[in-house]
Amino acid sequence: MEAARVAAERGHVVTLAEAESRLGGAIKLAMLAPTRANLGDITQWLEQEIYRLGVEVRRSTYLEAGEITGEGWDEVILATGSTPRMDGVQLSNPGEPIEGLEQPHVLSSHDLFAQSDRDFGEAAVVVDDTGHYEAVAAAEHLVTRGVAVTYVSRLAAFAPGVESALMTEPALERLSRGQFTHLARHRAIAIKAKEVVIGPTYLPSGSNQTHRVKADTVVLVSINRPNRDLMEPLKQAGVPVRLIGDASTPRHLVAAMREGHLAGAAV
Ligand SMILES: Cc1cc2nc3c(=O)[nH]c(=O)nc-3n(C[C@H](O)[C@H](O)[C@H](O)COP(=O)(O)OP(=O)(O)OC[C@H]3O[C@@H](n4cnc5c(N)ncnc54)[C@H](O)[C@@H]3O)c2cc1C
Repeated sequence: MEAARVAAERGHVVTLAEAESRLGGAIKLAMLAPTRANLGDITQWLEQEIYRLGVEVRRSTYLEAGEITGEGWDEVILATGSTPRMDGVQLSNPGEPIEGLEQPHVLSSHDLFAQSDRDFGEAAVVVDDTGHYEAVAAAEHLVTRGVAVTYVSRLAAFAPGVESALMTEPALERLSRGQFTHLARHRAIAIKAKEVVIGPTYLPSGSNQTHRVKADTVVLVSINRPNRDLMEPLKQAGVPVRLIGDASTPRHLVAAMREGHLAGAAV
């Protein structure tokens, strides 16, 4: 939306295609977390602006490479986002993916927020492999529903990616109002029907220091896989194409906005 807005401001005829019925991408999920509703302010403003500027918005329109080449657009900006990997790989121990992922109570953060009416049970494990706000949001979403959360992270500190934004302490304060346990330098080893086997990152999975944590729900937050399948066929078809935001490298909103802005200014 930021790329479309800036390109339209500069006088281009712009079409924006969105696979879903509503604009906003992953922010539609992120804004459902406790205290995060105002994340939607920016997407709401962008949506108003692109309509005001006359961008042709095609909702519920998933574009394939062939459809894009058929349109004959002069330039294409791919802001197709990213998808949770759910392969159980944790960066601390990449050769030992978590076992038992295929069970219905194992969710991505996208599943968690998209299925808000679901019964998450009494206890949950959130596995944070990124150290950013996404896993914090998942934990808080569960804690505010009365679920006891064990937060398992390979990292030495809680959510270091948002420490500089001064978000860590307030989040911990809110989480401590419910049942919340943080285990640093830990990883999930195997997911069972009602519990998760966890252990320290610095010991092998077969060590005698593993233990079991009750979990009716397990949420995995790892670095996403970029959605960039359209890139290669478009390049091969000779279409000038730019890749931005999570589709380039999965990160966060500010990076996506910056790259959208630069792409809109560069066409
Ligand atoms: C639960 C959660 C919490 C988060 N919390 C934060 C946070 O607190 N702070 C922060 O900065 N970031 C947060 N993020 C990350 C942030 O939402 C993303 O980094 C950001 O939305 C990336 O923007 P994007 O435009 O690159 O991709 P997206 O927001 O993923 O948008 C991509 C869009 O492209 C559409 N699309 C894909 N393929 C096609 C196609 N072929 N045709 C048409 N449309 C297509 C998709 O439907 C989607 O709407 C969070 C993410 C999640 C899931």
